[in-house]
Amino acid sequence: MKFNELGLAEPITRAVHKKGYDKPSPIQEKAIPIVLKGQDLMASAQTGTGKTAAFVLPLLQRLADGPRPAGKKVRALVVTPTRELAAQVHANIMDYSINTRLSNLVVFGGVNIGPQIRKLQRGVDILVATPGRLLDLHGQNAVQLDNVEILVLDEADRMLDMGFIHDIRKLQSLLPTRKQSLLFSATFSGEIRQLAKTMLHQPVEVEVAPRNSTVESVQQCIHPVDKARKAELLAHLINSRNWHQVLVFSRTKHGANKLVKTLAKSNIRATAIHGNKSQAQRTRALADFKAGKVDVMVATDIAARGIDIVELPHVVNFDLPNVPEDYVHRIGRTGRAGATGEAISLVSADEFKQLRDIERLIKTNLQREEIEDFEPDHQLPESNQAPRQRQGAGRKPTNFKQQPGNGNRRGRSRRRGKARAA
Ligand code: ADP
Ligand code: MG
Repeated sequence: MKFNELGLAEPITRAVHKKGYDKPSPIQEKAIPIVLKGQDLMASAQTGTGKTAAFVLPLLQRLADGPRPAGKKVRALVVTPTRELAAQVHANIMDYSINTRLSNLVVFGGVNIGPQIRKLQRGVDILVATPGRLLDLHGQNAVQLDNVEILVLDEADRMLDMGFIHDIRKLQSLLPTRKQSLLFSATFSGEIRQLAKTMLHQPVEVEVAPRNSTVESVQQCIHPVDKARKAELLAHLINSRNWHQVLVFSRTKHGANKLVKTLAKSNIRATAIHGNKSQAQRTRALADFKAGKVDVMVATDIAARGIDIVELPHVVNFDLPNVPEDYVHRIGRTGRAGATGEAISLVSADEFKQLRDIERLIKTNLQREEIEDFEPDHQLPESNQAPRQRQGAGRKPTNFKQQPGNGNRRGRSRRRGKARAA
């Protein structure tokens, strides 16, 4: 299947090829024709599967022929839960629309509202926005939403997790009833279906990859360790395995800050990204991380949501998330678009419940590997999920041989054989 076989016009496929994509991803293949037909859509696919282009490309085509927007009016509205995601979606729109005459704008909180108000004066074809700032702008009569032709809710599951339901309801009341609505999500929960029922009109549902499955190309493993020694273990892993570009998840903002300080003491360059940081600080942290100026970015789930860093090799769960679906989102940060990645979790005995919930969700017992000198005093109970499946198709057999440049990477770790006779 090629992009032009999906019914997309030449100026759009040309822009896509310029991005270096030669064929559509499965979710793009399924969603694009439906959106082009003007139908409402409810789409779910794992993180990193190209959902952005799945709505942006057909949206551009549908807007291409219409009249330009009047002052303060918007023709297509894309709502995202976080600022980073809004900026990222907007960047994609700019790339894909390069051969069209459509105008676009991104608005989010944490930055001056004045310039946003000014830019909205002339109206805009495609507006990307976070809910809070959008409602704020509407309240100041800087934007009018009664002419919106297409609405996109991106990362709808996260929008609900972050408590945006009231904002979404409010927004809905400001939009015309007659419009095309598209809802994208990494997972479909009962809540999402409920939301879809009230927001979408006879939606076509597309789902790629089994629900809540984790990405095949990601090698997953857990290191049992005592809570008090997690930071030390993380520093040890980063230094001894010579890791760069490590995304570390912390459950709390405070924990993220503390970890950055601890890592600094082991001469590891790290930065934190979370909701208490200003927009400028967050943008800067992400840029430094992408540019390789820091090796480690410590993030909370909300801040990391949707951030696209191509081929991120290592994701570390410093603590396990309370919501098991977040585990799937987190490890979706690695092994994107076909690249292989490694996701490790540092798990202490008190996190057994979270571990069990995650293993239940992904229907797999995660491989356990204790690290020498970091064996826990507080033992993590054995998991007893249904028959253990092999972890990640690409999981290499343990290689105790020294690897060039890698030092004794795996040599210092040992696997606990007990419950895994297989
Ligand atoms: P999602 O929203 O599903 O998490 P994104 O839209 O952020 O995923 O895309 C993930 C990555 O895949 C991005 O780097 C994007 O540029 C890339 N990508 C998207 N579509 C394709 C494609 N058809 N071929 C190759 N790479 C693609
Ligand atoms: Mg996305």
